[in-house]
Amino acid sequence: MSATTASSAGSFETVPFETVIGLEVHLALRTRSKLFCGCVADTFGAEPNHHVCPVCLGLPGALPVANAQAVKLAVRLATALGCAIAPLSPFARKHYVYPDAPKNYQISQHADPIGERGAVDLGDGAGCDALAGRVIGIERCHLEEDAGRLMHPPYAPYSLVDLNRAGAPLLELVTAPDLRSPAEARAFLEQVRSLARALHVSDATPEQGKMRADVNVSLRRPGDPLGTKVEIKNLNSFKSVEAALASEVKRQARRLADGLPIEQETRGWNEGGQRTYVLRGKEGAEDYRYLPDPDLPVLRLDPAWVDELRRSAPPTPAQVRARYLEAGLRRAEADMIAFDADAVAAFDALLAASADHEHAPTPAGLATWFTVEVTGALHAEGRGLGAGLPAAPLAALAALAARGTISGPTAKALLPEVLAGADPAALVAARGLAQITDTDALGDLVDEVMAAHPDVVAAARAQPKALNALMGRVMAASRGQAKPEAVRALLAERLGHASPD
Ligand SMILES: [Zn+2]
Repeated sequence: MSATTASSAGSFETVPFETVIGLEVHLALRTRSKLFCGCVADTFGAEPNHHVCPVCLGLPGALPVANAQAVKLAVRLATALGCAIAPLSPFARKHYVYPDAPKNYQISQHADPIGERGAVDLGDGAGCDALAGRVIGIERCHLEEDAGRLMHPPYAPYSLVDLNRAGAPLLELVTAPDLRSPAEARAFLEQVRSLARALHVSDATPEQGKMRADVNVSLRRPGDPLGTKVEIKNLNSFKSVEAALASEVKRQARRLADGLPIEQETRGWNEGGQRTYVLRGKEGAEDYRYLPDPDLPVLRLDPAWVDELRRSAPPTPAQVRARYLEAGLRRAEADMIAFDADAVAAFDALLAASADHEHAPTPAGLATWFTVEVTGALHAEGRGLGAGLPAAPLAALAALAARGTISGPTAKALLPEVLAGADPAALVAARGLAQITDTDALGDLVDEVMAAHPDVVAAARAQPKALNALMGRVMAASRGQAKPEAVRALLAERLGHASPD
């Protein structure tokens, strides 16, 4: 493995450093209620402070009760990441004073987190074959409650706090310092996001704050012990993670090349200026005064129950990809679908609906049509796959094209209406869109076009490739309904070319 090097930009001297990156990823768990009370967990977009109760507000005498579904989802993701599950896993209080923490402590886990010692092979990600064998250790996965959110109205001499999010369930995973470049950090995050969505553990949407990453980065000369690490917080997209890391690597390389020390500190990311800035000096674990939470019993995770959870978990993206490759899909298309949970749901529904049709395209043909035409048509309408697709009409449309009843261009033209739920067979019948395969009718059309374009005909006689120009004109004259293979054969025959068949 070659060490990734960072050089001091803009200087004549180039010092090679190895980049060492570790990540802390927070995933909002997809539960109905918060981690220790009955309040709604997913409050994205809700009126501030409308989803709170004595427990998540930390009022005196209120007692937390752990959410079993959150524990289940945490174990599901931890086992998928190859973590060992702790049979006894306690909750701990992590103390800090900040307006977003109503109890002045956060319920988290310290000793014996739910999962430990997992791993992710970066090569298992979509389009990541070049990273195969780059195994990133997962040091721990633990449950904790989220904090509230502070808002700072512009020019106001005060700040506001919204405690809707306080107490929402998070799974935090902490990697070993095994990542060697900003691009690897991004590949890791993308893989975890796909996995969390496929397992229905988290929506993992950074734009809604449901997947957040803090990163730490240090540089060293290859073979040296780890350098001083700097943490960067408040990164709300994978793009920001990659850009902030790249900027910080450059900053550290410049300082080290100039013989300056790296301070251990926490920095923020200025999206506008594309640079990091100092937030505060770094706290150590001792500053948090962890202590076992006396209000919550230790979680007992029976190994048989853990095994059952592992067995009943939905398939991972890598498993779905293997199934698609088995069915004959091309690698790029299998990657494109398998790592997007919404695409998997839509494509599997389409595959199932296609089984009802005698002349359905092959799974590979269906995948090409799905990834190119269907997603293209959705994109043009500003729609995503999240809302699901009308699988039965779509499968019927694909089958009409596969058996030759309609041409490819006609199928494409009908897509928007079929995506809106229209029955393609009814549209074809009502508008007379069936493909023209009658040789006499096509022959008349071909003769008309040839008579109208003697110059193109002359060119096509001299140069067989120019036949395509005539093809296009005949297809246009038929408004896309002529069967292309039949037109090509008729043209070749009239031009005296050898038949393509
Ligand atoms: Zn509550």
